[in-house]
Amino acid sequence: MKNTRQCPKCGGREILRIPDHPMRHASGNNIYTSSLTLAKKIPVIRYVCAGCGYTENWVEAPSQLNELRRAFG
Ligand SMILES: [Zn+2]
Repeated sequence: MKNTRQCPKCGGREILRIPDHPMRHASGNNIYTSSLTLAKKIPVIRYVCAGCGYTENWVEAPSQLNELRRAFG
């Protein structure tokens, strides 16, 4: 959906990009690679279909994907 700009569920083409809010610490939508510090928070960008509400979550930055590989790979 992020790449095709089309909803895989309903075929809608109005896709909203919802970035993580940098000041929002209590979000459950981030991935933490360390239990000790918030410094390793990986922001997750959401893509929401404006037609049916289907949502995808994406980690967009290659450096952050590398961080996830180190932590969980
Ligand atoms: Zn949809």
